This record gives sequence, structure tokens and C-alpha cells, in this order.
Amino acid sequence: MTDEDEGIAERKMRFLYALRSRGITDGRVLTAMERIDRGAFVKGLFAERAYEDTPLPIACGQTISQPSVVALMTQALQLSPRDKVLEIGTGSGYQAAILSLLARRVYTVDRHRRLVREATEVFRQLDLTNITAFAADGSHGLPDQAPFDRILVTAAAEDPPGPLLAQLKIGGIMVVPVGQTDAVQNLIKVTRHETGFEYEEMRPVRFVPLVEGLGSE
Ligand code: SAH
Repeated sequence: MTDEDEGIAERKMRFLYALRSRGITDGRVLTAMERIDRGAFVKGLFAERAYEDTPLPIACGQTISQPSVVALMTQALQLSPRDKVLEIGTGSGYQAAILSLLARRVYTVDRHRRLVREATEVFRQLDLTNITAFAADGSHGLPDQAPFDRILVTAAAEDPPGPLLAQLKIGGIMVVPVGQTDAVQNLIKVTRHETGFEYEEMRPVRFVPLVEGLGSE
């Protein structure tokens, strides 16, 4: 091993330790986080900081989420290998890549075409063949592929968007940050029962806002 490899191995070990110490106990989630190299989704200057438990800037003024929050949301989804999952907010593609190891099929949507294009290229390089990324306004969901077993929203909405609730299967789970931009937002877990929706508050978080319409690039 070169010194550089050793440095990366050590940083990755600390990365996994940080996730455990933040309450990630699901072994399958930890294994997925270990297998997907966050460094592949962070470009340029910030690549060096890929194994820190911190959000980082990506193109189009957006951010790749903090790894412990990615792990927490993934754990809350209680994925099964048969699940069809919808993610709103592809961003770098990192969260979708984690989901793809734990579910059968992942659809991911972003309002910025550039992010969709770049993430699709990384999925191809990593041979993650069960993810499809679309450029679209995700607040309408993805009616053609609905209903979904699980839905994950990685941008903050004022309320869980109605079309997404409608596209969740009975027995399905949706995780969504809810709150005003720049105020404290809460991560909410929504479970759809035959008789209605159950809402559970998980913890305060801070995400970029869910914005209507397609982006300019
Ligand atoms: N999950 C990402 C981080 C997402 S950041 C990752 O793992 O890197 C939030 C993303 O939501 C941004 O890329 C932003 O462009 C996207 N977004 C915001 N509003 C949206 C909308 N209405 N439809 C689709 N994507 C949206």
C-alpha cells in the first residue's frame, strides 16, 4: 500500500466509526456506506474532504448531504431488496447509489439537467445498473413509474407534497425534510396505512429547498 492508500483507508475507517457513533446500527446500511465511495461524487477542490461527516458544495449551487444524514434517512426507509424507490433531488447521485445497493430499482429526479447528466455518468462508471435518473420537477413525483414502496425527498418542502403521498403504496414509507427554508426543518417519516398516513418526527435537519420547475442548467 502506498502512503496515499493508507491515508484513504484510515479516513474511510474513521468515516464508518463516525456513522456508528451517530446511531447508524443497521449493518446493511453500514455495508452500503462502506461500499460506495463518496469521493466519486465530489469533484475538484472538495474531493479531499469526501470522508468528513459534512455536507459539501456540488454544481448548480447545490450540496451533497452529510453522510450521517444520508445513512439515517436510508436506515429509516427500512428497505427490502424487492423495493422500488423514488428519490427527489439526485444532486451528486451519492444517496441514490447507496439506495441502489439495498433496493431492486431506484428512480431519481432532479430539476437540474446538469446534475442528472453528471450523476448518470458516475452510476455508469460504478456499474450501478438499477438506477434511472430523470430531469424533472420532482414535486409531481413520477406518475409513469408509480406507485413506489419507498420515497425519499432530499430537499425541504413546506409540507410533504400531495402527489408524492398519492404515489406511495399502502405499507410504504416516505422520508422528507419539512419546514421553511433557512428555518429549522424537521426530518419526517411518513408511513401509509390502509386507513391513512402516520407522521413521525425524526430530528432537526437543514436541506436546500424544494424549488418548483426545471433549473436553468
Ligand atoms: N441527494 C443528493 C443531495 C441533494 S441536494 C445527494 O446525494 O447528493 C437537493 C437537490 O434537490 C438539488 O440537487 C436540487 O437541484 C434538487 N431539487 C430541488 N427542488 C427540486 C424539485 N422540485 N424537483 C427535483 N429536484 C429538486
